[in-house]
Amino acid sequence: MSSINCIFCRIVSGEIQASIIYEDELAIAFRDINPQAPKHILIIPRNHVDSMNKMSAEDKDLVGHLLIAASSIASQEGIAETGYRTIINTGEDGGQTVWHLHVHLLGGRSLGWPPG
Ligand code: AMP
Repeated sequence: MSSINCIFCRIVSGEIQASIIYEDELAIAFRDINPQAPKHILIIPRNHVDSMNKMSAEDKDLVGHLLIAASSIASQEGIAETGYRTIINTGEDGGQTVWHLHVHLLGGRSLGWPPG
């Protein structure tokens, strides 16, 4: 399933170039075009899902898969020991700007809390 106007679906299909660093049967990961930390990677499902709001019990394996991929990428990127943050922005107040579910993986510096 893909959505024709979705930029992340177009990255999955190869129509738009991205710096892809991880791929498997369910997910891909690529470097954020506007990084907010030395390491800023987006992990997304290959299939289009608008947001966390569209998740149902059927997606529980997918959500787990995305987080396990994030953990493995953190190791690959050398930030597992120093630490990192995983974030899913949802909706307007959550700061979501791309309507294709994605996990942000941020690391490589000390991250402030609470987020802005
Ligand atoms: P969010 O605001 O949580 O929806 O996050 C969307 C993220 O996608 C932002 O951090 C953008 O910088 C990033 N982004 C948008 N377009 C691209 C692209 N073509 N390649 C890589 N990252 C992108």
